[in-house]
Amino acid sequence: MGPKLTVKCPYGEKKGFAVFCKLINKKVSPLKYPCTSDHYQKCPIYRQYAGAKEEKAEVAETRKEAEEAPPRREPVREEAPPPAGGFKKPEEARTCHECIFYSELTKMCLKLKIKVDDPNNPPCKRGA
Ligand code: SF4
Ligand code: SF4
Repeated sequence: MGPKLTVKCPYGEKKGFAVFCKLINKKVSPLKYPCTSDHYQKCPIYRQYAGAKEEKAEVAETRKEAEEAPPRREPVREEAPPPAGGFKKPEEARTCHECIFYSELTKMCLKLKIKVDDPNNPPCKRGA
């Protein structure tokens, strides 16, 4: 009875007295490689193949993260503020939008107490 052979390397498979290494698809001697030892990670084949595999997975993971990162948000533009200098008196306002008596909500002129059909053409400035 020879010594019990337990393959520790996840890439090794016991084949009689040899080990079949799945990384190189070849039988290897466990005397030459650390397949049955806890130090299988020091195996040059393991390091070359498994290391490369893990590295690839890491790169893929990093790429995935970059893709999943939320896009940078553009600053939202605010609505145009009320006319600079505040609202104006009817005589000074060119449009009802600038006028202190105009209600944007009800579209009413609070001075004339009428509905304004065209705030860009103030009713108070129409006609002679
Ligand atoms: S220890 Fe090395 S040779 Fe043995 S199975 Fe693992 S990678 Fe292959
Ligand atoms: S119509 Fe009324 S709200 Fe418009 S400018 Fe004249 S006074 Fe102001």
